[in-house]
This record gives sequence, C-alpha cells and structure tokens, in this order.
Amino acid sequence: MGKPTGFMDYKRETSVSEAPLERIRNFNEFHTPLSKEEQQIQGARCMNCGVPFCQAGMNIMGMTSGCPLHNLVPEWNDLVYTGNWEQAYNRLKKTNNFPEFTSRVCPALCEAACTCGHWGAPVSVRDNEHGIIETAYKEGYAGPHIPKVRTGKKVAIIGSGPSGLAAADQLNSRGHAVTVYERNDRVGGLLRYGIPNMKLEKKVIQRRLDILTEEGIVFKTNVNVGKDITKKELEKEFDAIIFATGSKKARDLNVKNRDCTGIYFAVDYLTKATKHLLDNTDEISAKYKHVVIVGGGDTGNDCVGTSIRQGCASVVQIEMMPKAPDERLESNPWPEWPKICKTDYGQEEAIAVFKKDPRIYETTVKECILDDQKNLKQIKTVKVHFNNGKLEEVKGTEQILDCDLLLIAAGFIGVEDDLKKSFKLETTQRNTIVTQPNSYQVKDKYFTAGDCHRGQSLVVWAIHEGKECAKEVDAYLMGYTNME
Ligand code: FAD
Repeated sequence: MGKPTGFMDYKRETSVSEAPLERIRNFNEFHTPLSKEEQQIQGARCMNCGVPFCQAGMNIMGMTSGCPLHNLVPEWNDLVYTGNWEQAYNRLKKTNNFPEFTSRVCPALCEAACTCGHWGAPVSVRDNEHGIIETAYKEGYAGPHIPKVRTGKKVAIIGSGPSGLAAADQLNSRGHAVTVYERNDRVGGLLRYGIPNMKLEKKVIQRRLDILTEEGIVFKTNVNVGKDITKKELEKEFDAIIFATGSKKARDLNVKNRDCTGIYFAVDYLTKATKHLLDNTDEISAKYKHVVIVGGGDTGNDCVGTSIRQGCASVVQIEMMPKAPDERLESNPWPEWPKICKTDYGQEEAIAVFKKDPRIYETTVKECILDDQKNLKQIKTVKVHFNNGKLEEVKGTEQILDCDLLLIAAGFIGVEDDLKKSFKLETTQRNTIVTQPNSYQVKDKYFTAGDCHRGQSLVVWAIHEGKECAKEVDAYLMGYTNME
C-alpha cells in the first residue's frame, strides 16, 4: 500500500468532461484525463483493503458487485501511486485483455464496491485504468507479443464483439490459429456499431486490432456465417468453433401503425450514425426532428446524445419503470450496486440544450399518429403502473407528443433466428444458446461466449465470458489448459 493515509489526504479527482453545450458540436470523446502526476495521487487514495470488494465480481441481490474480471485493482493502484506504470500495465493485462475499452465504457462496478465509497468518494479506479493503458501505448510497451510456438489447432470465432475478441486474444496467445468471422464491414461488434464515438472513438478499436492482427489473428469481415460459409465448411476447416454472435434481436413495439415510416431500432440508428462518420454514408438524421426514444436505459441515452449532435428539434425519452431514487435506499446498502437515478451524458446534454430532463417515467407508447402521407407525426402515450407484477395502463392519462422520429431502445431478446436455424441451436427461455451445465461448451466442437450466452450485458462481462470460454476450448483441444 503506497500511502496509508492517502484516502484522507487527497480528494477524489476524475477526468474533466467538456461542457455539454461545447461537446455536442462534434462526436468526439469529451473527457480530458488527469496528468500522470495527478493520476498518481489518485492511486494513493486506495486503502488496499483486507477484503477488496472492488475486484470481487460477486453476485449480491442479483446484481454484480466489483469487477467480473477480478482486476487486481489495489495492486495497480499502488503501482500507479509509486510511478511504476509499466508494472501497473503488466498487472492490469493479466486480467483484462482490453483496458482501453473498459476504461472508457464500463459503468465501473469496481468503484461502486470500493470501500472508500462506503463513507466518502471511491477511488477513481476507471481513470487509473485509463491512465495505465494510455501510458502503455504512449510509452510503447502495449505492443504485440507474437506467440513463439503454434499448436497446429484451428479455431473459428463467429462474431467480433468484445467476447469474440477476448477469446481470440487468449487462444491466439496460447498458439492456436484463430480466424474471426464478422458479418459487418468492420470488426468490433457493438463496440464499433452500437456504442457511439463520444464514448469510444473508433480509432481506439483499430489501434487494438492492429496489434491482434500482428499477433497472428485473422479477421474476415463481410462474412455472414451460416449463409456465406456453411456449418459443414466450418466443421471441415476448424477444430473448434465459438459463437460470439451477441444478442442483437431487438424487442419491438406492439402498437397501432408500427409499420409506418419514421420508426427505427436504436442499434440500426446508432450504426448508421457511426457509419456516416466513418464513410460519409447515408444516416438516419434527427436534424430538425422531434425525437422520441422508447427505453430509459443506456442505449436510449446514447440515442439522446446522438440525436442532439445531429441537431434534433426536441428529444423525449420514455421509460416504463418509475424513477429510481436520487439517494441509495437503506434496503440497498454498500457494496451492492447502487440503484439510484443517474443522469448520463446524453441526458445532461438534453438538459443543457432544452432546459429540461428528457425522461418521462411510468409511460409507454399507445399509438403512432400519421400524416396524410402515412409518415409518423405524433405519438399517443399513456401512463402505466405495475399491479401485482402486471403492467396496467392508468385510465385518462393519454397524451399526444410531436414525434417524427421514434427510436426503439427497449432491450434485446437474444439470439437471432437465422443463426439458430443454420446451426440447429437450442435456446433457453431467455433465448440464449443452451450449453452443457456450468460450461461454455454447446456440443462437440462448439462453444459460446458473450451476450448470446449470457444475455444482454456489459463489455466487461463479454470479456470475462470470452476468457472463460477460451479456457474450455483450450482444454478441449489440448486435453488440459494452463490458461489463467
Ligand atoms: P456483440 O458486441 O454484439 O458482437 C457480436 C458480433 O457478432 C456482431 O458484430 C455481429 O455482427 C456478429 N455476428 C452475429 N451473427 C453473425 C454471423 N452469423 N456471422 C458473422 N458475424 C455475426 N456495455 C458497456 O459495458 N458499456 C456501455 O457503455 C455499453 N453501451 C452500449 C450501447 C449500446 C447502444 C448497446 C446496444 C450496448 C451497449 N453495451 C455497453 C453492451 C455491450 O456493448 C455488449 O454487452 C457487448 O458488446 C456484448 O459483446 P458480444 O461480444 O457478446 O457481442
């Protein structure tokens, strides 16, 4: 432990966000990191607890507390404090394949479980992680490690999101020949087409892909597995196959006039926005439009931030659930994940531009109202509440909102039908791929990881799944595994 009294001597400081009205002028990341010296001081705030909840990744009351990757947080906090940045990087890389992604997009389960946060402000773990990985790139020790020995075994990974990339990284480092298939034109899954630039600039993904490619992983894009390459062809060429295909099937809205123009799924909207920035292709523009987003979660918030940057006339985010409390309830004590109302970047921006919070709670869409050309013009909403677990409308609470762009960000419901059909996959009630009990193995040479296995989740969980799955694939191929 670097400085025993650090948590009392120094206040929590984090990277500085650009003011909402400034940052909405472009789609760039908008946090200015602390200097190396300032970040070192933040490392000193870590108390190196006897029981470091920050790295526990355990389930409390159905939610994760601490890091699912079991990042060695107190160890690298200490190394940051003492200025041993390269050693800090080595400790961080032991558990996390892609700190440059998690240090930008993770909700920081570690910080919510930090003991310092029990009474005061938690250690700035995510910013410390960001400092470690960016220093590693800057100082040149984050580069490729090309495996010295090859096993002669071949692995196909279907899907290039964080779970597929983590599995690929692990298996390639072990010496297996890894090919990653991706049906999109670019690698990255939702990191690429989903999470907007403001949270994760795409050059950050490319920087990592260049390393993975140099290390020997083969990426094949624009290949829809099951259609462009068949099950039989894959089985002939590869010794093991991993489904890391995500959970892209979106939950739809079942309302009158759903089939009119002007309604899109959030991920399709966000994908086009990113592709427009990358290739100047057509986007679904929110310019001058009255935007309504169905879904009060993180994806909905990303739509708020994106439509504001595109110049929307107004934005409303509709949520079915009641507003969470502003302060932790006694029934939700530390180190449980705090169930409080957070105002994310997009909502902050909406408040700055339109002078009001875009969220309305306990509300759903009842009907889409069209103009003469059958374009969306307005929506009818209604208040809802749960009665004995059943959602009910509150009579007489209908409202009309102007809306010519409706974005559905109501969550995902698992594996897409085409993949199920092509590979004759069995799925669970939640529409995730069925595996052997407590295993990532589906059957024979098939394995699975990430959202298609776990259900819609987080990048940090996808990396965890990719790593755990890789261990099982390695043991299947070699008869044992020495992978950590
Ligand atoms: P994905 O990232 O979904 O990747 C699966 C890939 O498989 C896709 O590229 C898909 O094209 C490909 N694929 C599917 N079928 C085939 C096929 N037949 N052939 C070839 N390729 C195929 N999590 C966070 O932690 N922080 C965030 O800020 C955050 N923001 C999010 C914002 C949005 C808009 C969304 C939708 C999700 C967000 N998430 C966030 C969740 C996170 O992105 C996912 O949990 C994570 O990406 C899942 O990783 P994955 O590898 O399982 O799947």
